Amino acid sequence: MNILLVSAELAPFAKVGGLADISGALPIGWKRIGHNPIIVIPKYKGIEEQFHILKTDLSISFTLFEKERVFPIWTSTLPHEDIPVYFIESDDLYDRPGIYGNPDGYADNDERFFVLCKSAFELMIKLDIKPDIISAHDYHTALLLPLLQFTYSKHPLFESSKGVLTIHNAQYQGWYDLQRMIAMTSWNPEDCLWKGEFNALKTGIDYADLIIAVSPSYAKEILMPEFGEGLENVYSQYSDKLIGILNGVDYALWNPESDTCIEHHFSKSDLTNKLIGKIQLNKHYFEDNIDCDKLPLIGMVSRFTDQKGIDLLEGCIENILEQGLCRLIVLGSGEERYQSYFNALQLHYPQFVSYSQGYNEQLAHHILAYSDFFLLPSRFEPCGLTQLYALNYGTIPIVRSVGGLKDSVQPFDSITQQGDGIVFQEFAKEALHNALMDALSLYHNSTMLQSIMNNAMQADYSIEKTAKEYIDEFKKLLHKN
Ligand code: ADP
Repeated sequence: MNILLVSAELAPFAKVGGLADISGALPIGWKRIGHNPIIVIPKYKGIEEQFHILKTDLSISFTLFEKERVFPIWTSTLPHEDIPVYFIESDDLYDRPGIYGNPDGYADNDERFFVLCKSAFELMIKLDIKPDIISAHDYHTALLLPLLQFTYSKHPLFESSKGVLTIHNAQYQGWYDLQRMIAMTSWNPEDCLWKGEFNALKTGIDYADLIIAVSPSYAKEILMPEFGEGLENVYSQYSDKLIGILNGVDYALWNPESDTCIEHHFSKSDLTNKLIGKIQLNKHYFEDNIDCDKLPLIGMVSRFTDQKGIDLLEGCIENILEQGLCRLIVLGSGEERYQSYFNALQLHYPQFVSYSQGYNEQLAHHILAYSDFFLLPSRFEPCGLTQLYALNYGTIPIVRSVGGLKDSVQPFDSITQQGDGIVFQEFAKEALHNALMDALSLYHNSTMLQSIMNNAMQADYSIEKTAKEYIDEFKKLLHKN
């Protein structure tokens, strides 16, 4: 199967969150089970300085707002994998700080992502590749699906292609000006009007042959107003083409025995270096080193948005820090109110709280590998990847039972000794407080701690499993006609 994957993010070239990890991992999974993925992303600012990518002789051109535009093509492969990645060059669209232009998004994101999607089709024509599956990810590349339907379905290369939309986060939808979209695409406004505007995600949903939510629970949750973000009725209307597949992990990258971002490797049978790593993390990131090997270390690595449930911590963790019961190490950035909260927390409890603002791949791996617990109290969580990574390092997730967290972390039962995490139900400070206290008492019971860590490290969420589930669904789609 030829699978064309187009994404706004792709690890390691351009990453903001989990979308990058999965856009990078799925093709690896597909390739390992015998298929041919081809990836297309924008050539964002700075990629060619950081990575080995080459300018090709190819370029593609098309008319946009009545002007002929030319887009040179660059190429590379995924690291250590023979999977082609093509980069669309357009300095005026992509040579800017950041991928999206947060917090409100660049005003011309409609054009930036439309150009990406249309270029992907034009590139396939240039390369004479016939994609069996066109794999779109979130609102940014949901435009592939109306493009397939309205512009390319009669082209011999695409006449039997199927369009699949993976929804990583239903909160972000790409509300664009309808007139501008029509001017850019020449589509019929009646085919794309939604509440007086153009909604990229909704249009993608309309024209997708299959919609994949990134966990089975999230596929059910988005049918409800609490999680559907205004599109719940649309998802319900299309429930026969909506499924959930849990994301997976590329264990070649996130592995305690071989992770290239950490120095002290360890395994299920020898955890000595996990403790050494924890001691080093404590030394580097906390003011003084009181009995740090005995104090439980709770890690967080997160984009700071209201999705991540950081609000629950305020007025809940202080009581625990006041008593010096644990240390908290946090890495993340995003909304100012959360950054200020963690800065203030660190100022108030310098012995017990360390906050690093910003994006830091290396530190993320250190926190995931060497902490005792990993906290994700999300309000909603389509899948969540960090809890899957944490499990593989024997770092016990403390999560709210929602979306992919519910599907991937099994609550630990002290009687049966089954389960691999601490799970709480209600989105409430008291529920989080109880979960934290449970975690801390578990930490001091070495038999139970051993059991839960063992269970965590045994969990298997490999990307190959996820990739195979995708392929099974792709096959069903292709055999339909
Ligand atoms: P989301 O996509 O909602 O941000 P996921 O759990 O799916 O959440 O994926 C988050 C990914 O981004 C993980 O690989 C995590 O390690 C990474 N990440 C998040 N924040 C940071 C940060 N500040 N520095 C480095 N990596 C981060």
